[in-house]
Amino acid sequence: MKKRLVLVGGGHAHLSVLRALAIQRPLGVDVVLVTPSRFQNYSGMLPGWVAGHYPLSACRIDLLPLAQAAGVRLVPIPMAGMDAQRRCVALQDGQQIDYDLLSLDVGSETNTSWLEVLGKKLLPIKPLDSFFTQWPHLLAAARVKPGYQLVVVGGGAAGVEMALAALAAFTQAGVASRVDLVASESGLLPGHAPGVQARVERFARQAGLGLHFLRGVGTEEGVLLSDGQLLHADSVIAATGARPPVWLGMSKLGLDAQGYLWVDAHHRSVSHANVFAAGDVCARADAMLTRSGEHAVHAGSALAHNLLATQAGGALQAYVPKRRSLYLLACGPRYAVASWGRWSAEGQWVWRWKDWIDRRFIQRFSTTGLVPTTQMQEHTP
Ligand SMILES: Cc1cc2nc3c(=O)[nH]c(=O)nc-3n(C[C@H](O)[C@H](O)[C@H](O)COP(=O)(O)OP(=O)(O)OC[C@H]3O[C@@H](n4cnc5c(N)ncnc54)[C@H](O)[C@@H]3O)c2cc1C
Repeated sequence: MKKRLVLVGGGHAHLSVLRALAIQRPLGVDVVLVTPSRFQNYSGMLPGWVAGHYPLSACRIDLLPLAQAAGVRLVPIPMAGMDAQRRCVALQDGQQIDYDLLSLDVGSETNTSWLEVLGKKLLPIKPLDSFFTQWPHLLAAARVKPGYQLVVVGGGAAGVEMALAALAAFTQAGVASRVDLVASESGLLPGHAPGVQARVERFARQAGLGLHFLRGVGTEEGVLLSDGQLLHADSVIAATGARPPVWLGMSKLGLDAQGYLWVDAHHRSVSHANVFAAGDVCARADAMLTRSGEHAVHAGSALAHNLLATQAGGALQAYVPKRRSLYLLACGPRYAVASWGRWSAEGQWVWRWKDWIDRRFIQRFSTTGLVPTTQMQEHTP
């Protein structure tokens, strides 16, 4: 009987797995992809979509043709939970799927615990699918309410990019509005070099973004800052850092102190040898990895190799992260700041560079971007 590999989530890492399966088409394995939707929205282009640079169709990958090319059965229902002892996943419609080998790439959730009181005013950046659905409603509401007030909470890359994108969208729509960014005492872009932080802060101030380097908590009216100032808000976008999916806590898998799936350098669960994971959902036992799309994509190549090797009985490959990652931070109106270690740069040319990389990423996972192994070998000198 065929062994069953279940992939949960169509995130950055599983795109590489689907691509590898499409190219290699391994025999003797039944592969199932469990995902809430056949479309995987791409976070890297979300700020550009909000700023009006892209239609939705340009920022998402259709998983169905990729799954078909890979011989994978796509089940468009979210997973509700799993039991690592019984080797099965439970779907939201009550179905159960047993697995021999499991791979998780479900990303993380936005931690909104101290903003929940905002109720309907609150728009967390993740899940991305619901952000993509909600943003047009927010923009429509802003168009008809003069003096619309938007507060973005979170001074990391996602918060900064979203605040500047929203500002650009309001400006383009001729909306009289105010956009504030609450970034805590750590300031903008913690972890990036001072030169990068200075470039982004200068750009943000010139663009008219209200900056607050204070802690904020949600109230029914808006966001209350730690100096007592209340930022009234019609809407609050939360880009407040990640938290692991709640169901992981009941999965019986080994987790780290924050509740993320604990994996080794091969991205294999430290507690269950038949479970692998990559991307935001996991934490490496041997290394500190920031939660980023870049790591998810690169770990995805090792993950693809390891899933196929486990099935075929081959040696596993470690994912060795690069020492520095390149970040291209979109600043709204087709302008971006580049950050790579201590080096930084900015301009419209940086935005065009980002645009090229992002479009190439989407193209790479369209079925026309697939190059079969034989063809690849023919072209290798
Ligand atoms: C606005 C924004 C901009 C960003 N820009 C960058 C950037 O430029 N560069 C960078 O490196 N990082 C960036 N990031 C971070 C990046 O998005 C994440 O680190 C990355 O998406 C993690 O990839 P992943 O594969 O773990 O999960 P994701 O890409 O989030 O994919 C997870 C998938 O799993 C699915 N899923 C979730 N729950 C379930 C379930 N229960 N059952 C089945 N499927 C499920 C989801 O629908 C989704 O398709 C950005 C983040 C944001 C919010």
